Amino acid sequence: MTQGALLVELGRLDLALMREEKVLDEIPEKLEILRLRKRLKEIEGVLEKADAYCRTAEAMVRKSADETALVQAKIDAEQSKVLSGSVTNPKELQSLTRELEALSRRKSAIEDETLALMEKSEAGAAQREKVEATLAQGHAKEAELIAAFREKGGEMQRAIEKLRAERTKVIAGIDPALLDKYEALRAAKHGVAVGVLEGDVCSACRTHLPADRAQAIALGPEVAECPNCRRLLVVVAGADS
Ligand SMILES: [Zn+2]
Repeated sequence: MTQGALLVELGRLDLALMREEKVLDEIPEKLEILRLRKRLKEIEGVLEKADAYCRTAEAMVRKSADETALVQAKIDAEQSKVLSGSVTNPKELQSLTRELEALSRRKSAIEDETLALMEKSEAGAAQREKVEATLAQGHAKEAELIAAFREKGGEMQRAIEKLRAERTKVIAGIDPALLDKYEALRAAKHGVAVGVLEGDVCSACRTHLPADRAQAIALGPEVAECPNCRRLLVVVAGADS
């Protein structure tokens, strides 16, 4: 192959590589995985809050139950005092009875409170279970997407490696100075460094060159420069001019 033909082939390979790499980067599963991970993070945040709520509710239930036990112990102590017969003073007995009644009311109130707290705690636990189930579903979906991404991505990765291997072969045949020029232009011109003269048009910038310029380029060296976009312009032997 001539230098011009090699340059054109290199340009073709680099465009194909750019396309494949872009597609690989934009595999729908990849975007979906990123979106899903964001969502999973949010759900994890909700789960943390649900956990904290449950812990607080459980602690409140325990505290309330402890209080009930404490009041019960007081009731037991007062009652045994009454039953022991050691208190004979009617005034004292009356005050003990009043105290017992008050303790009973207090106990009953705490028990109601405990029940309400238990309901809250159970509701919290049920909510947490729901969040956990949602999270588990999300993780399963994530695993599915990763598997699909690996399969598709693997195929593309292999195609990219094949193109890179072809590229290595092609550049081995190109004059190093010309290759440097090509790479510099590729970096400066959005990945396209070379055009082909098609009639009076540069295939890279699609500009019609003045007829005399096109003619001169067609008759000149195989690798020229586009007067418009300054890319390498290859003259294909035998092509119309
Ligand atoms: Zn051009």
